[in-house]
Amino acid sequence: MVGEGSKEWPAIGIDLGTTYSCVGVWQHNRVEIIINDQGNRTTPSCVAFNQAQRLIGEAAKNQATSNPVNSVFDAKRLIGRRFTDEVVQNDMKLWPFKVISASEENKPAIVVTYKGEEKQFAAEEISSMVLMKMKQTAETYLGSEVKNAVITVPAYFNDSQRQATKDAGTIAGLNVMRIINEPTAAAIAYGLDKMATNMKQTSKNVLVFDLGGGTFDVSLVRIGKQACEVKAVNGDTHLGGEDFDSRMVDYFVAEFKRKHNKDISGDRRAIGRLRSACERAKRMLSSATETSVDVDCLYEGIDLYSTISRAKFERLNLDLFTNCINPVKKCLEDAKMKKTKVDDVVLVGGSTRIPKVQELLKDFFHGKEFCQSINPDEAVAYGAAVQAAMLSGVRNNRDFTLVDVTPLSLGLRYYSGKMAIFIPRNTTFPVKKSGIVYNADNDTTVHFRVFEGERPIAFDNNFLGMFELHNIPPGRKGKEKFEVCFEINNDGILTVSAHHIGTNNKKQLSIANHSCRLSKEEIDRMVEEANKYKVEDEEHKKAVAAKLALQNYAESKWDMVEVCWNKFREENAKKMKDAIDKTIQWLDWNLNLTRVSEYEEKLNELKTILDPLIGDMP
Ligand code: AMP
Repeated sequence: MVGEGSKEWPAIGIDLGTTYSCVGVWQHNRVEIIINDQGNRTTPSCVAFNQAQRLIGEAAKNQATSNPVNSVFDAKRLIGRRFTDEVVQNDMKLWPFKVISASEENKPAIVVTYKGEEKQFAAEEISSMVLMKMKQTAETYLGSEVKNAVITVPAYFNDSQRQATKDAGTIAGLNVMRIINEPTAAAIAYGLDKMATNMKQTSKNVLVFDLGGGTFDVSLVRIGKQACEVKAVNGDTHLGGEDFDSRMVDYFVAEFKRKHNKDISGDRRAIGRLRSACERAKRMLSSATETSVDVDCLYEGIDLYSTISRAKFERLNLDLFTNCINPVKKCLEDAKMKKTKVDDVVLVGGSTRIPKVQELLKDFFHGKEFCQSINPDEAVAYGAAVQAAMLSGVRNNRDFTLVDVTPLSLGLRYYSGKMAIFIPRNTTFPVKKSGIVYNADNDTTVHFRVFEGERPIAFDNNFLGMFELHNIPPGRKGKEKFEVCFEINNDGILTVSAHHIGTNNKKQLSIANHSCRLSKEEIDRMVEEANKYKVEDEEHKKAVAAKLALQNYAESKWDMVEVCWNKFREENAKKMKDAIDKTIQWLDWNLNLTRVSEYEEKLNELKTILDPLIGDMP
C-alpha cells in the first residue's frame, strides 16, 4: 500500500526521456525516486534485440556498441511523427538501426532482427517497452502491481506526439491517468522544495529551462503554495544533447576522412561506436577543458585516437546553444513579462550541465544565479509522482491545483487557405471554444481540416486531421452556417466538432484518430505482443537461472572428484570426472537454450550419475 489512506493501486510518475527515464512514487509523505535493478536512479531509454532475448535499459545500452543495428534508442524523437517528416529523415542518417515507412499513412517502423527473424516495431512499441521496464522497477520496489501512471511529455509536444505517448502507456499495460508537461512537473518539484524550506513562501515567477537528450522546453510558471499556473511555454521538440553528440560525430567522421582517406559515414556499427565515445567525451567536457576520444578498430581495423577541447566542442555547437535562448525570449514575450520579473531560473535535463549553455542563459538574465536545489535528472519524475498521488487521492487534491497551457495554436483551414485560430497558443486547458463558419462553395459536402501551429497559411502548419459533413443543401455558397467547437481535455488532447445550424447534422473528430495514430486494432495487437514478449523475457530469465544452476552444480562437484581420488576410489573418480567434463562441454555448445527443461533434464542426468558415486564414498 502506498501512502496513507490509499486503497487503490499505487500510482507512479514516469519521466519518459529521450535518453534516460526515471520513475517516482509518493510514499511516506514524500516522493521516492525508485532505484532500478542496477542500483541506478535513471534507466537508459534503450531496447535491444539479439539471438536469444530482448534487453531493456542498462543491459541494452551496455551491448549497443557490439550490436548497434538491433539496439534502439531515441524512440521519443520518432513518436507521433510521419516517416516523411524532415526531422525523421535527418535523424535516420545518424541512427545505426533501420527505420522504414510501414504504411500508406507513412507511419515509421523500426526494423530489427530478434531471435533470427526480422521484426518491425512502431515507436510506440519501443517506448512501451521502456515504460514497462519502469513499471516493473516500481513493482519490484513496492512489492505490488502498478497500474496507474502519470507520464510526462515535453511541453512543446504536439497533439499526435501526446496521443502516441498515451498509446505507448496503454501497450505497456498502464492506465495513463494523465499526460503532463515535463517543465510543469519540474515546477511542481521546485514548488514543493521551496515550500518545504520556507513555509512563508509567497508566489514566484519561475522560468524552467529544460534541455534534455532530444527535446528542449522553456516554461514560465507562477508557482505558489496552492497552485502552479503555467503562463507560457516555448521550445523545440527536436533539440538536445543528441544534436550536440551528432555535431561531434560529424567532426570526427571528417577528421577520419582527412587522416585516413576513409569515409565511415555509411557504416552503422562504426557510427554507433563513435557516437557512444562522443557522448562520453561531451559529458567530460562539462567539467574538463579537454578530453580524449578513443575507439579501437573503428573502421577497417584502423583505430581512432584523438582529443577534443571544450572550446572546439562549443564552436561546433554554438548556433544550437545560441538557439536555446530564442525560446526563452519568446516565452517571456508571450507571458508579457520582463526578464527582471523572473524570480528563479530552474535548470532541468542533463544537457543543462553544459557550461556554455549555462553561460549564455546567465548572460541573458544579467548574471542571475540559477536555482540549484532540485536535481535536474529527477525533477520531472518527482513532479509526475506528486501529480499521480494527487490524482489517485493519496495526496489531498485541494493542496495544489495545476493550470497548464497548450503549446501551439489550433484552428481550421479557411477556404482562402488561411489558418483560422480557435484556440491560440498558451491558452490554459481544459478549454472549450466555439465559432461560426460558413460553407465556401456550392457542394453538398463541407470539409473541416484541423491544423496546429503558428504559420498564417494552414498548410504550413501541422495537419491533425479532417472530417466532413454531408447532405448540405447544394448551391448555397456562403449561406450555410456551422458551429465549430474545439475542446482540449485535461491531458491537452483535442476534440473538434461541427454542427450544421438548423439541422441535426453534426460530426466530431477526436484528433485521437488522426492518420498517424495507431488504430484500436493495432494497439490491441501490440498489447497482446507486449504480453507475449513479457512471457518470453520471463522464460529467458528462468532459462538463464536453470543454466546457472547446472553450471554451479557441475563446477561444485570437482572437489568431490578429488576427495574420491584421495580415498582410492579411482574408478568412481574417473566416472565422475567424465560426467562433469561432458556436461561442461554440452554447456559450451548450448549456452543460449530458451527452454528451462533442457537445462533441468541435464542437471537431473548429472545428479543421477554423481549422487550414487558420492554416496558410495567411505
Ligand atoms: P535527460 O533527457 O534529461 O536525461 O538528458 C540526457 C542528456 O543529457 C543526454 O544527451 C546526455 O548526454 C546529456 N548529459 C548528461 N550529463 C551531461 C553532462 N555532464 N554534460 C553534458 N551533457 C550531459
